[in-house]
Amino acid sequence: MTEDRAGDQTVHENVHEDAGQGGPTASPDAWVRDILRCPACGSALADGTAVDGSPQLVCQGQACALAYPIRDGIPVLLVEEGVQSEGTV
Ligand SMILES: [Zn+2]
Repeated sequence: MTEDRAGDQTVHENVHEDAGQGGPTASPDAWVRDILRCPACGSALADGTAVDGSPQLVCQGQACALAYPIRDGIPVLLVEEGVQSEGTV
């Protein structure tokens, strides 16, 4: 069983992607963030960066300001996982 694969014509150039650098919609996850709310106080969440450089969602509630970790791209919106925001938004 010899199979000659000389004609490997796999082309990776043709990725179906909007050639958008700096498009009007910064993140495709914007709508997700829009419906996410802080489980502790119900305020909106904003993108933030934890002190260790990892992404997090920061509650915009003044009295709350909990920061929730994002693990493998999935926001962990649990009050017990939230920490007082120490990073930057
Ligand atoms: Zn909150």
